[in-house]
Amino acid sequence: MNPMIAYLRKQKPEWEEYLSLMEMMDTDSNQTDSDSDSIPEAELVENKDKAYKSKIIKLKKTQSKLVNLINSLREELEEEVEFTQDLAEALGACPECFGEDEMCDNCDGEGIPGFFVPDFVQYNRFISPANKKFNKHFRIRN
Ligand SMILES: [Zn+2]
Repeated sequence: MNPMIAYLRKQKPEWEEYLSLMEMMDTDSNQTDSDSDSIPEAELVENKDKAYKSKIIKLKKTQSKLVNLINSLREELEEEVEFTQDLAEALGACPECFGEDEMCDNCDGEGIPGFFVPDFVQYNRFISPANKKFNKHFRIRN
């Protein structure tokens, strides 16, 4: 087993799906023709041809799985980024770092919640209902 994949499997069990694919690809690339000494030439060529065709089919399947994975990860990431931006707008915070990164190109770490004027629509979507619940739960009167 590839030691890097084994390490990642321990560190990031949630990546199992991707690690299995990587392992499959790794195994494919390590396969060599080693026990072909006593096989006649014509049979050897035919076997090699079959082996290559089967390998190509396998690689195409792996490629297709990887493309699907990449597309679903891209979609997931785009949704997460949009969600984070909406939440930052609701809080009036920097969408890049929420004011937690002094090296932030967008706010130099100043964009904590309330730094910008919160977006009206996003505020009513996220903050207002949470604020009502918060006040009710902690019995805060305005
Ligand atoms: Zn920032």
